Amino acid sequence: MKLILIGPPGSGKGTQAMRLERTQGIKQLSTGDMLRAAVNSGSELGQHVKDIMDSGQLVPDDVIVKMIEDRIGQPDCKHGFLLDGFPRTIAQAEALDRMLEHRGTQLDHVIEIKVDDTMLIERVVGRFTCANCGEGYHDTFKRPKQAGVCDVCGSTHFKRRADDNTEAMKTRLAAFHTQTAPLLPYYHNRGKLETVDGMTSIEEVSRQIDATLSKSL
Ligand code: AMP
Repeated sequence: MKLILIGPPGSGKGTQAMRLERTQGIKQLSTGDMLRAAVNSGSELGQHVKDIMDSGQLVPDDVIVKMIEDRIGQPDCKHGFLLDGFPRTIAQAEALDRMLEHRGTQLDHVIEIKVDDTMLIERVVGRFTCANCGEGYHDTFKRPKQAGVCDVCGSTHFKRRADDNTEAMKTRLAAFHTQTAPLLPYYHNRGKLETVDGMTSIEEVSRQIDATLSKSL
């Protein structure tokens, strides 16, 4: 299965993608995670994209397209993949179409997680993750049961993303509306788009996504 999750920053794409990786047995490919790994490694790519990411702007299409093209050619993507954070522009979507066509395959599902902007800044600015297992937390909505200790793995190390602040978030939301939202009619016109309500609980969003996946297009 090959699927895309589209939604603004803070809509829950990452949470759902991690869950689907487990339940569907397909590889989660998060371009944001790949770029953050490049930044942390200090590679040439990382140095090139760090300031762009910190400001909340999008990294140039050619950089991202090359990264995804290399990645989906690897053996662990043979049975399918879930794209989280890609494509984010029409040019990226067109490049993806060409890549899949070249491989004689196509997307099975494109799922939009729809959330109003008003909720997103609060959701994103308070979030942090366990540095060891990646479990997500929030200052207001989901604190660890024991302060400073991860509920899942017991680690006491947590991290926050450099771009999870109000200023960068405003830029990220603007990028979503101007550059990424045009993907919604793009996939709708190809009969691929399905929308779930991301304003509800994680469990309810999961249920809606699973219902969508069980329908064949
Ligand atoms: P994310 O983790 O998906 O919120 O991505 C974090 C940041 O990485 C974004 O704000 C962009 O700077 C960059 N990024 C991730 N995916 C893409 C993409 N498909 N196109 C351009 N920039 C991206």
